[in-house]
Amino acid sequence: MKVFSKIDELREELLKNRQNNASIGLVPTMGALHDGHASLLRAACAENDYVVVSLFVNPTQFAPTEDLAAYPRTFEADCRLAEEIGAKAMFAPTPEEMYPEGDSTWVEVTGHLTAILCGKSRPTHFRGVTTVVAKLLNIVGPCKAYFGQKDGQQAQVVRRMVRDLFIPAEIRIMPIIRENDGLAMSSRNAYLSEDDRAAALVLSRSLNEAEELIKNKGLRDREEILSRITAIISDTPQAQLDYAEIYSFPDLEEIDHLEGEIFIALAVRFGGARLIDNLVVSI
Ligand code: AMP
Repeated sequence: MKVFSKIDELREELLKNRQNNASIGLVPTMGALHDGHASLLRAACAENDYVVVSLFVNPTQFAPTEDLAAYPRTFEADCRLAEEIGAKAMFAPTPEEMYPEGDSTWVEVTGHLTAILCGKSRPTHFRGVTTVVAKLLNIVGPCKAYFGQKDGQQAQVVRRMVRDLFIPAEIRIMPIIRENDGLAMSSRNAYLSEDDRAAALVLSRSLNEAEELIKNKGLRDREEILSRITAIISDTPQAQLDYAEIYSFPDLEEIDHLEGEIFIALAVRFGGARLIDNLVVSI
């Protein structure tokens, strides 16, 4: 696997491969790779001739009060894992490479899709995500780019951007990979104390409980399901609820009556760590 920090050098390498008719896949990450990232990489390697994994802790998607400086960085281990899975290139640019002096362009999906859920708690977050993903798609020019359903709203925001800007890449959304006990894998799980790690099971537990109420008990009332979820979370003293919401899936529109595919999403804080999780339920 070759490691690139410069856009021009990566592009030169990709041009050679494109001339040999190689299909290119892109897996954007912020590093501290775990099995969730590995699942995207495996899918990308199965479906493309040449896979680029990008590793960039994107400053523009963090608010000044957030965890940019503390974000876990495990570059050597990330390179080993990506190479083992079969990535051909690691793109790890500096912030200056991605945002050179004078950079003044944002790519922003506006409206409901970015105003709800994480967009409400982190108002500048998705603008940072779409700006950096647009840059990465332009730099790499992949046939397919891979995102995780773990960040379910992000995946839909990226899909919308790609559709609206006619970016010629297919966005592939891969399932959530969980620890054996149900906790969705996340680089931010490293922030959890032992006590909070145990308490964090409340996310997957309350989502499973909601699914059970819908599927086995026939509950269809949005408010009632949300109040059951919030009751479970407020019973966990370490957990501080940021949001619990239900929307249609995949468009994330408001719904009262639950039918078709629905998206149940949670964000919960444990001390300094903010964890998100979601479940798509087919009714
Ligand atoms: P991150 O490095 O956290 O920005 O994540 C990079 C990509 O990996 C995003 O598309 C995430 O949605 C995806 N991802 C992160 N955690 C998981 C997981 N547990 N299962 C599946 N995909 C994940």
